[in-house]
Amino acid sequence: MKIIRKIQQLRKTLAAYRRRGKTISLVPTMGYFHEGHVSLMKQAKRETDIVVVSLFVNPLQFGPKDDLKKYPRDLRRDQKMAERAKVDILFVPEARDLYSKAHETYVMAENLAKPLCGLSRPGHFRGVATVVAKLFNIVGPDAAFFGRKDYQQARIIEKMIEDLSYNIRLRVLPTVREKDGLAMSSRNAYLSPLERKEAPKIYAALKAVRALYKKGERRVSVLEHKLKQELVKNIRGARLDYAEVREAVSLTRPARLKSKAVAAVAVRIGTTRLIDNITLGE
Ligand code: AMP
Repeated sequence: MKIIRKIQQLRKTLAAYRRRGKTISLVPTMGYFHEGHVSLMKQAKRETDIVVVSLFVNPLQFGPKDDLKKYPRDLRRDQKMAERAKVDILFVPEARDLYSKAHETYVMAENLAKPLCGLSRPGHFRGVATVVAKLFNIVGPDAAFFGRKDYQQARIIEKMIEDLSYNIRLRVLPTVREKDGLAMSSRNAYLSPLERKEAPKIYAALKAVRALYKKGERRVSVLEHKLKQELVKNIRGARLDYAEVREAVSLTRPARLKSKAVAAVAVRIGTTRLIDNITLGE
């Protein structure tokens, strides 16, 4: 596995692969890898010849109160995990090489970025879409791999690919979970042992909503009430950023569900903000 830090070096390396007819995939990440990241890397390797994993803690997607400075980092460990997953190139750019001081061009999804995490983290998705657009332009991948764990993010990238005519096959893979149901996340490292015990109850609440949906309940207010109740009742010290049921494609909130939907939550346990979601109706 090559570790590449410079944009020009990456472009040159990939151009050589492309001349030899190799297909290329991109897996954008912020590092501190877990099995969720590894599942994306391995699937990328099954589907394309060359796998590029970008590792960049993107300052543009963090708000002033967010955890940019303390976001967990361990390049040596990440390097070993990526190598084991048969990644070809680990691209580790520096912020000053991606953004000049005079940077002023941004990518924004107007409506999809408004609700859910867009409300509790203003500017977050502008940062995500902008960095992913830059990575797409630098790497020029045939396919790009994202996790369903960040449901709204994946929808925004899907829309961006369509709206900006990127010729990239988007693959969104299922959420990888710990045995007790907790969605794997680099931020789980922040949890104290007591908080870690509470955290799996997020997925339990999402499953309770899915059970209600499967019984035939389609009123969004009833499904959301159930979700909030389960979270607040069961998780000690939980504070909800949001707990909502939305239409799966538009992320709008109808009174009654008529098509596929998603139940999505952001919960603060102590100082750690965790997100998770479950789809309703396959
Ligand atoms: P991050 O490093 O947290 O920005 O995540 C990089 C990519 O991995 C994103 O596409 C995430 O959606 C995906 N991802 C994060 N956690 C998981 C998980 N538990 N299962 C599957 N994919 C994940």
